[in-house]
Amino acid sequence: MTLLEQLGDIAKRGVELLEEAHAASSLPLPADQARTLRRTAAAFLSPTSHSRYQSRALAAARRNQHSLETLALIARRSRGISDPTKRWQFREKLCATAGTTAQVSRAATRLLREINPPPKREDGGRRIMHGEKTTLSFTGPAAQMADIWAAAKSDPLAWLTGSRAAAPATVTTNVIIELPEYLKILAGDGDEIRLALTNGATITGTELIRRTLAGAGLFTLIHPERGPVNLYRTRQASAKQRRMLEAEGTHCAWPACRRPAAECQAHHLIEYSRGGHTHPENMTLLCPYHNSINGLPGRGRMARIRGRIGWLPPTKASKAHGPHGPPVFTGRARTGPTAAVP
Ligand SMILES: [Zn+2]
Repeated sequence: MTLLEQLGDIAKRGVELLEEAHAASSLPLPADQARTLRRTAAAFLSPTSHSRYQSRALAAARRNQHSLETLALIARRSRGISDPTKRWQFREKLCATAGTTAQVSRAATRLLREINPPPKREDGGRRIMHGEKTTLSFTGPAAQMADIWAAAKSDPLAWLTGSRAAAPATVTTNVIIELPEYLKILAGDGDEIRLALTNGATITGTELIRRTLAGAGLFTLIHPERGPVNLYRTRQASAKQRRMLEAEGTHCAWPACRRPAAECQAHHLIEYSRGGHTHPENMTLLCPYHNSINGLPGRGRMARIRGRIGWLPPTKASKAHGPHGPPVFTGRARTGPTAAVP
Protein backbone atom coordinates (compact mmCIF):
# COMPACT_ATOMS: atom_id res chain seq x y z
CA MET A 1 0.00 0.00 0.00
CA THR A 2 1.41 3.42 -0.97
CA LEU A 3 1.47 6.28 1.54
CA LEU A 4 -1.36 8.01 -0.33
CA GLU A 5 -3.48 4.86 -0.25
CA GLN A 6 -2.86 4.62 3.49
CA LEU A 7 -3.85 8.28 3.90
CA GLY A 8 -7.07 7.67 1.96
CA ASP A 9 -7.82 4.65 4.13
CA ILE A 10 -7.16 6.55 7.38
CA ALA A 11 -9.37 9.45 6.23
CA LYS A 12 -12.39 7.12 6.24
CA ARG A 13 -11.74 5.74 9.72
CA GLY A 14 -12.13 8.71 12.06
CA VAL A 15 -14.17 6.82 14.65
CA GLU A 16 -11.57 4.02 14.86
CA LEU A 17 -8.82 6.59 15.36
CA LEU A 18 -10.79 8.16 18.23
CA GLU A 19 -11.28 4.77 19.86
CA GLU A 20 -7.56 3.98 19.67
CA ALA A 21 -6.63 7.42 20.99
CA HIS A 22 -9.13 7.18 23.85
CA ALA A 23 -7.58 3.89 25.01
CA ALA A 24 -3.94 4.87 24.50
CA SER A 25 -1.85 6.27 27.34
CA SER A 26 0.38 8.31 25.04
CA LEU A 27 -0.04 9.43 21.43
CA PRO A 28 2.86 9.25 18.95
CA LEU A 29 1.91 12.62 17.42
CA PRO A 30 3.04 16.28 17.54
CA ALA A 31 1.62 18.00 20.66
CA ASP A 32 -1.07 20.09 18.89
CA GLN A 33 -2.42 17.11 16.89
CA ALA A 34 -2.40 14.94 20.00
CA ARG A 35 -4.38 17.61 21.90
CA THR A 36 -7.04 17.83 19.15
CA LEU A 37 -7.32 14.05 19.00
CA ARG A 38 -7.69 13.74 22.79
CA ARG A 39 -10.31 16.49 23.01
CA THR A 40 -12.30 15.02 20.10
CA ALA A 41 -12.10 11.52 21.56
CA ALA A 42 -13.23 12.84 24.95
CA ALA A 43 -16.22 14.61 23.35
CA PHE A 44 -17.41 11.49 21.53
CA LEU A 45 -16.34 8.63 23.81
CA SER A 46 -16.40 9.80 27.45
CA PRO A 47 -19.13 8.08 29.51
CA THR A 48 -22.34 10.13 29.32
CA SER A 49 -25.92 9.99 30.56
CA HIS A 50 -26.87 10.40 26.88
CA SER A 51 -25.47 7.00 25.89
CA ARG A 52 -28.18 6.29 23.31
CA TYR A 53 -27.41 9.55 21.47
CA GLN A 54 -23.73 8.68 21.76
CA SER A 55 -24.03 5.23 20.18
CA ARG A 56 -26.32 6.52 17.40
CA ALA A 57 -23.86 9.37 16.65
CA LEU A 58 -20.87 7.00 16.48
CA ALA A 59 -22.77 4.51 14.30
CA ALA A 60 -23.74 7.31 11.90
CA ALA A 61 -20.18 8.68 11.77
CA ARG A 62 -18.90 5.20 10.96
CA ARG A 63 -21.56 4.72 8.28
CA ASN A 64 -20.65 8.06 6.66
CA GLN A 65 -16.92 7.28 7.01
CA HIS A 66 -16.33 10.67 8.61
CA SER A 67 -12.69 11.69 8.89
CA LEU A 68 -10.92 12.76 12.06
CA GLU A 69 -11.04 16.31 10.70
CA THR A 70 -14.84 16.18 10.37
CA LEU A 71 -15.28 14.66 13.85
CA ALA A 72 -12.95 17.29 15.36
CA LEU A 73 -15.07 20.00 13.71
CA ILE A 74 -18.29 18.52 15.11
CA ALA A 75 -16.77 18.29 18.62
CA ARG A 76 -15.44 21.86 18.42
CA ARG A 77 -18.67 23.40 17.12
CA SER A 78 -20.73 21.52 19.75
CA ARG A 79 -18.70 22.89 22.66
CA GLY A 80 -20.67 26.15 22.92
CA ILE A 81 -24.03 24.37 23.37
CA SER A 82 -24.65 24.31 27.13
CA ASP A 83 -27.72 22.03 27.21
CA PRO A 84 -26.32 18.44 27.13
CA THR A 85 -29.34 16.99 25.28
CA LYS A 86 -29.16 19.68 22.59
CA ARG A 87 -25.39 19.17 22.37
CA TRP A 88 -25.81 15.45 21.70
CA GLN A 89 -28.67 16.03 19.24
CA PHE A 90 -26.36 18.43 17.39
CA ARG A 91 -23.52 15.88 17.27
CA GLU A 92 -25.86 13.08 16.19
CA LYS A 93 -27.38 15.15 13.36
CA LEU A 94 -23.98 16.15 12.02
CA CYS A 95 -22.58 12.62 12.26
CA ALA A 96 -25.63 11.56 10.22
CA THR A 97 -24.86 14.24 7.61
CA ALA A 98 -22.95 12.65 4.73
CA GLY A 99 -20.33 14.68 2.89
CA THR A 100 -17.04 16.51 3.20
CA THR A 101 -15.82 18.46 6.22
CA ALA A 102 -16.88 21.68 4.45
CA GLN A 103 -20.41 20.36 3.87
CA VAL A 104 -20.73 19.22 7.50
CA SER A 105 -19.40 22.64 8.57
CA ARG A 106 -22.17 24.40 6.61
CA ALA A 107 -24.78 22.09 8.15
CA ALA A 108 -23.32 22.92 11.59
CA THR A 109 -23.72 26.66 10.95
CA ARG A 110 -27.38 26.15 9.96
CA LEU A 111 -28.10 24.00 13.02
CA LEU A 112 -26.40 26.41 15.42
CA ARG A 113 -28.53 29.23 14.04
CA GLU A 114 -31.65 27.14 14.82
CA ILE A 115 -30.42 26.33 18.33
CA ASN A 116 -29.28 29.89 19.13
CA PRO A 117 -31.43 32.20 16.98
CA PRO A 118 -29.97 35.69 16.57
CA PRO A 119 -31.10 38.03 19.38
CA LYS A 120 -34.11 40.27 18.81
CA ARG A 121 -32.74 43.68 17.94
CA GLU A 122 -33.95 46.75 19.82
CA ASP A 123 -34.67 50.01 18.03
CA GLY A 124 -32.04 52.63 18.70
CA GLY A 125 -28.59 53.88 17.79
CA ARG A 126 -24.94 53.00 18.40
CA ARG A 127 -21.73 55.01 18.15
CA ILE A 128 -18.29 53.51 17.56
CA MET A 129 -15.36 55.94 17.81
CA HIS A 130 -12.19 55.14 15.89
CA GLY A 131 -9.87 58.07 16.69
CA GLU A 132 -10.35 60.65 13.96
CA LYS A 133 -13.52 59.01 12.58
CA THR A 134 -16.78 57.88 14.19
CA THR A 135 -19.36 55.36 12.94
CA LEU A 136 -23.04 55.73 13.77
CA SER A 137 -25.45 52.85 13.23
CA PHE A 138 -29.22 52.85 13.68
CA THR A 139 -31.75 50.03 14.09
CA GLY A 140 -35.46 50.38 13.31
CA PRO A 141 -38.39 48.71 11.49
CA ALA A 142 -37.10 47.19 8.22
CA ALA A 143 -39.49 48.95 5.83
CA GLN A 144 -38.89 52.37 7.41
CA MET A 145 -35.11 51.86 7.45
CA ALA A 146 -35.19 50.78 3.78
CA ASP A 147 -36.85 54.10 2.88
CA ILE A 148 -34.24 56.03 4.92
CA TRP A 149 -31.37 54.04 3.37
CA ALA A 150 -32.67 54.70 -0.15
CA ALA A 151 -32.72 58.44 0.57
CA ALA A 152 -29.41 58.61 2.48
CA LYS A 153 -27.06 56.06 0.91
CA SER A 154 -25.57 58.23 -1.85
CA ASP A 155 -24.27 60.78 0.68
CA PRO A 156 -25.16 59.86 4.28
CA LEU A 157 -23.38 62.87 5.84
CA ALA A 158 -25.18 65.38 3.63
CA TRP A 159 -28.46 63.58 4.32
CA LEU A 160 -27.91 63.53 8.11
CA THR A 161 -26.99 67.22 8.33
CA GLY A 162 -29.56 68.29 5.72
CA SER A 163 -33.30 67.74 5.26
CA ARG A 164 -33.40 64.09 6.41
CA ALA A 165 -36.43 63.54 4.17
CA ALA A 166 -37.28 59.86 3.68
CA ALA A 167 -40.54 60.21 1.74
CA PRO A 168 -41.55 56.61 1.03
CA ALA A 169 -43.87 57.79 -1.76
CA THR A 170 -40.78 58.59 -3.88
CA VAL A 171 -39.39 55.07 -3.43
CA THR A 172 -41.08 52.53 -5.69
CA THR A 173 -40.91 49.18 -3.97
CA ASN A 174 -42.46 46.02 -5.33
CA VAL A 175 -44.10 43.61 -2.87
CA ILE A 176 -43.98 39.91 -3.71
CA ILE A 177 -47.25 38.23 -2.77
CA GLU A 178 -49.01 35.00 -3.69
CA LEU A 179 -52.74 34.91 -4.31
CA PRO A 180 -53.71 32.70 -1.35
CA GLU A 181 -51.78 35.09 0.95
CA TYR A 182 -53.51 38.08 -0.61
CA LEU A 183 -56.91 36.50 -0.05
CA LYS A 184 -55.97 35.95 3.61
CA ILE A 185 -54.89 39.58 3.94
CA LEU A 186 -58.16 40.73 2.38
CA ALA A 187 -59.97 38.51 4.88
CA GLY A 188 -58.28 40.42 7.71
CA ASP A 189 -55.49 37.97 8.63
CA GLY A 190 -52.72 40.31 7.46
CA ASP A 191 -50.74 40.51 10.70
CA GLU A 192 -49.23 37.04 10.56
CA ILE A 193 -48.21 37.22 6.89
CA ARG A 194 -44.75 38.63 6.10
CA LEU A 195 -44.10 39.88 2.57
CA ALA A 196 -40.74 40.48 0.89
CA LEU A 197 -40.08 43.86 -0.72
CA THR A 198 -37.70 44.26 -3.64
CA ASN A 199 -35.66 46.76 -1.56
CA GLY A 200 -34.72 43.95 0.86
CA ALA A 201 -37.18 44.76 3.65
CA THR A 202 -40.23 42.81 4.76
CA ILE A 203 -43.64 44.13 5.87
CA THR A 204 -46.78 42.51 7.23
CA GLY A 205 -49.92 42.12 5.15
CA THR A 206 -51.59 44.79 7.30
CA GLU A 207 -48.77 47.25 6.54
CA LEU A 208 -49.17 46.41 2.85
CA ILE A 209 -52.84 47.43 2.93
CA ARG A 210 -51.86 50.65 4.69
CA ARG A 211 -49.23 51.38 2.01
CA THR A 212 -51.53 50.45 -0.82
CA LEU A 213 -54.22 52.77 0.48
CA ALA A 214 -51.59 55.51 0.85
CA GLY A 215 -50.79 55.03 -2.84
CA ALA A 216 -47.10 54.27 -2.25
CA GLY A 217 -45.52 51.58 -4.42
CA LEU A 218 -46.94 48.84 -6.58
CA PHE A 219 -47.79 45.27 -5.79
CA THR A 220 -47.61 42.15 -7.91
CA LEU A 221 -49.98 39.28 -7.30
CA ILE A 222 -48.48 35.83 -8.05
CA HIS A 223 -50.74 32.83 -8.39
CA PRO A 224 -48.95 29.60 -7.36
CA GLU A 225 -50.13 27.71 -10.48
CA ARG A 226 -50.36 30.41 -13.10
CA GLY A 227 -47.54 32.80 -12.19
CA PRO A 228 -47.96 36.59 -12.00
CA VAL A 229 -51.60 37.72 -12.23
CA ASN A 230 -52.14 41.19 -13.60
CA LEU A 231 -54.72 42.97 -11.55
CA TYR A 232 -54.53 46.18 -13.54
CA ARG A 233 -55.42 46.69 -17.14
CA THR A 234 -54.49 50.34 -17.47
CA ARG A 235 -52.65 52.13 -20.28
CA GLN A 236 -49.42 51.88 -18.25
CA ALA A 237 -49.76 48.09 -18.16
CA SER A 238 -46.48 47.44 -19.94
CA ALA A 239 -44.39 49.30 -17.35
CA LYS A 240 -46.23 47.50 -14.57
CA GLN A 241 -45.90 44.15 -16.33
CA ARG A 242 -42.18 44.71 -16.64
CA ARG A 243 -41.93 45.40 -12.89
CA MET A 244 -43.89 42.20 -12.24
CA LEU A 245 -41.43 40.22 -14.38
CA GLU A 246 -38.51 41.82 -12.54
CA ALA A 247 -40.14 40.78 -9.27
CA GLU A 248 -40.30 37.19 -10.52
CA GLY A 249 -36.61 37.01 -11.47
CA THR A 250 -33.84 39.54 -10.93
CA HIS A 251 -31.80 38.39 -13.94
CA CYS A 252 -32.06 36.69 -17.37
CA ALA A 253 -34.17 33.52 -16.96
CA TRP A 254 -31.91 31.36 -19.17
CA PRO A 255 -30.01 28.75 -17.06
CA ALA A 256 -26.79 30.15 -15.54
CA CYS A 257 -27.10 33.57 -17.25
CA ARG A 258 -26.58 36.43 -14.75
CA ARG A 259 -27.41 39.42 -16.98
CA PRO A 260 -29.45 41.72 -14.70
CA ALA A 261 -33.17 42.18 -15.29
CA ALA A 262 -32.65 45.85 -16.17
CA GLU A 263 -30.71 44.75 -19.30
CA CYS A 264 -33.25 42.11 -20.33
CA GLN A 265 -36.13 42.03 -22.82
CA ALA A 266 -39.66 40.88 -22.06
CA HIS A 267 -40.00 37.59 -23.91
CA HIS A 268 -43.28 35.94 -25.00
CA LEU A 269 -43.30 32.27 -23.95
CA ILE A 270 -45.99 31.52 -26.54
CA GLU A 271 -45.21 33.73 -29.52
CA TYR A 272 -47.47 36.68 -30.13
CA SER A 273 -47.97 35.50 -33.72
CA ARG A 274 -49.29 32.14 -32.42
CA GLY A 275 -51.86 33.80 -30.20
CA GLY A 276 -49.68 34.31 -27.10
CA HIS A 277 -50.87 37.24 -24.98
CA THR A 278 -48.79 40.19 -23.82
CA HIS A 279 -49.44 39.30 -20.22
CA PRO A 280 -47.05 38.36 -17.38
CA GLU A 281 -48.30 34.76 -17.29
CA ASN A 282 -47.00 34.38 -20.85
CA MET A 283 -43.76 36.30 -20.33
CA THR A 284 -40.31 36.17 -18.80
CA LEU A 285 -37.13 38.25 -18.99
CA LEU A 286 -34.31 37.20 -21.30
CA CYS A 287 -31.10 39.04 -22.20
CA PRO A 288 -30.92 40.09 -25.88
CA TYR A 289 -28.65 37.13 -26.74
CA HIS A 290 -30.81 34.45 -25.11
CA ASN A 291 -33.96 36.05 -26.49
CA SER A 292 -32.43 35.71 -29.98
CA ILE A 293 -31.48 32.02 -29.65
CA ASN A 294 -34.56 30.85 -27.71
CA GLY A 295 -36.42 28.19 -29.71
CA LEU A 296 -33.68 27.78 -32.35
CA PRO A 297 -32.84 24.15 -33.29
CA GLY A 298 -30.65 22.54 -30.63
CA ARG A 299 -30.92 25.42 -28.14
CA GLY A 300 -34.09 24.58 -26.21
CA ARG A 301 -36.68 27.12 -25.13
CA MET A 302 -38.20 28.83 -22.09
CA ALA A 303 -41.64 27.82 -20.76
CA ARG A 304 -43.85 28.25 -17.72
CA ILE A 305 -44.46 24.88 -16.09
CA ARG A 306 -47.02 24.80 -13.27
CA GLY A 307 -46.45 28.48 -12.60
CA ARG A 308 -42.66 28.33 -12.59
CA ILE A 309 -40.29 29.54 -15.29
CA GLY A 310 -37.98 26.85 -16.67
CA TRP A 311 -35.82 25.96 -19.68
CA LEU A 312 -36.80 22.96 -21.82
CA PRO A 313 -33.69 21.34 -23.30
CA PRO A 314 -33.75 20.48 -27.00
CA THR A 315 -35.58 17.34 -28.18
CA LYS A 316 -33.95 14.10 -27.01
CA ALA A 317 -33.68 11.22 -29.46
CA SER A 318 -34.70 8.78 -26.70
CA LYS A 319 -37.90 10.74 -25.96
CA ALA A 320 -37.62 9.41 -22.39
CA HIS A 321 -39.12 12.62 -21.06
CA GLY A 322 -41.71 13.25 -23.76
CA PRO A 323 -40.90 15.70 -26.53
CA HIS A 324 -38.23 17.45 -24.38
CA GLY A 325 -35.62 16.63 -21.77
CA PRO A 326 -36.61 17.30 -18.12
CA PRO A 327 -37.11 21.06 -17.52
CA VAL A 328 -34.40 23.08 -15.74
CA PHE A 329 -36.26 25.45 -13.42
CA THR A 330 -34.71 28.89 -13.23
CA GLY A 331 -37.63 31.01 -11.96
CA ARG A 332 -38.76 31.75 -8.47
CA ALA A 333 -39.89 28.59 -6.63
CA ARG A 334 -43.41 28.46 -5.33
CA THR A 335 -43.34 29.34 -1.66
CA GLY A 336 -46.94 29.39 -0.58
CA PRO A 337 -49.65 26.77 -0.34
CA THR A 338 -51.09 25.43 -3.58
CA ALA A 339 -54.68 26.47 -4.10
CA ALA A 340 -57.22 26.10 -6.84
CA VAL A 341 -58.37 29.26 -8.55
CA PRO A 342 -61.34 30.42 -6.50
ZN1 LIG B 1 -29.14 35.56 -20.87
